Amino acid sequence: MSQASLQVVSVEPDSELASLHLMMQLLQNVDVGLILLNEQHQVQMWNNFMENHSAIRTSDARGSNLFDLFPELPAGWLKKKIDSVFKLNSRAYSTWEQQPRLFNFRSNRPLTGNAEFMYQNVTLIPLTSTNKKVSQVCILVYDVTDIATHKLELEAANAALEKLSRTDRLTGLYNRGHWEERLMEEFRRCKRTGRVSSLLMFDIDHFKKINDGCGHQAGGTVIRALADLLLQTQRETDVSGRYGGEEFVTILPDTTISQALVFAERLRLRIAAAVVDCQGQPLQVTVSIGISQYDDMLENHLQWLTKVDQAMYQSKHNGRNQTTCYVQQ
Ligand code: GH3
Ligand code: MG
Ligand code: MG
Repeated sequence: MSQASLQVVSVEPDSELASLHLMMQLLQNVDVGLILLNEQHQVQMWNNFMENHSAIRTSDARGSNLFDLFPELPAGWLKKKIDSVFKLNSRAYSTWEQQPRLFNFRSNRPLTGNAEFMYQNVTLIPLTSTNKKVSQVCILVYDVTDIATHKLELEAANAALEKLSRTDRLTGLYNRGHWEERLMEEFRRCKRTGRVSSLLMFDIDHFKKINDGCGHQAGGTVIRALADLLLQTQRETDVSGRYGGEEFVTILPDTTISQALVFAERLRLRIAAAVVDCQGQPLQVTVSIGISQYDDMLENHLQWLTKVDQAMYQSKHNGRNQTTCYVQQ
């Protein structure tokens, strides 16, 4: 029994050495960057990951200042982080969402071939010596290129889908559903702030003739051309949508009815003067416009919409190719 325990004692130094050796091999080969720094930011040790990605030999790195080895590092910010780990004896982090990368390593992930650089999460860990003081800081560099590119691709796809869901395919303007939401927001804003906005609606005159005489495709071309003219004429803050087949609407924020009338007439004359080329055939159209200013008596955005619609039909009734302002009866 005592002999056995003696035997154990006698092999311990060797096994400790062996496990240390194993541990070193693990750290050397693990697929995470590992850098050991002293308080002067000199590299004490780093592993194969760092050597392979930086193309700096471990023997050259040892003893060198980290910021001399990697001039691209955000020195002010990172030094502060490292120093706080030394001082506070607590971990610090940097995620790829905050900064896509600290080290300018190229990405060589087979799955995410389109990422040029490696996205990185970085953790700083305090290492203490026997006197409990932090003697070194270990920097761990995680290659998160796969996660980051998938997340970015998903976000881009969601944004594209979201845009698609609010866009009218033919004209690129907002579709009716989204435009009505914007109108509701504008209505609430006017109620809350007491500011005045106006609404504009127009419909192409005798559009059936274009469809009947030149075909639906020509009709589509005309609708697209008018949408372009509308976008060219409006301000950046104005919000236009395709309300129906050949009906368009625009929210004019912070615009009185007399200012809206100036805009409506400019648009109407511009449309009347435009010649739309439909496969070599020149086409001209006119539009009938209605405008209506917000007023505090309105209970909801749909009432506002009804008024602008009434004004537009008044323009049709009065002979088309004109603008009518809604007047409270
Ligand atoms: P009005 O001057 O009274 O507006 O006469 P209009 O012929 O334009 O009549 P109305 O506005 O009532 O009818 C619009 C017609 O436009 C109905 C439909 O044939 C056509 N139309 C609606 N949407 C589209 C579309 O997306 N493409 C094409 N080509 N035609 C459409
Ligand atoms: Mg029409
Ligand atoms: Mg119509």
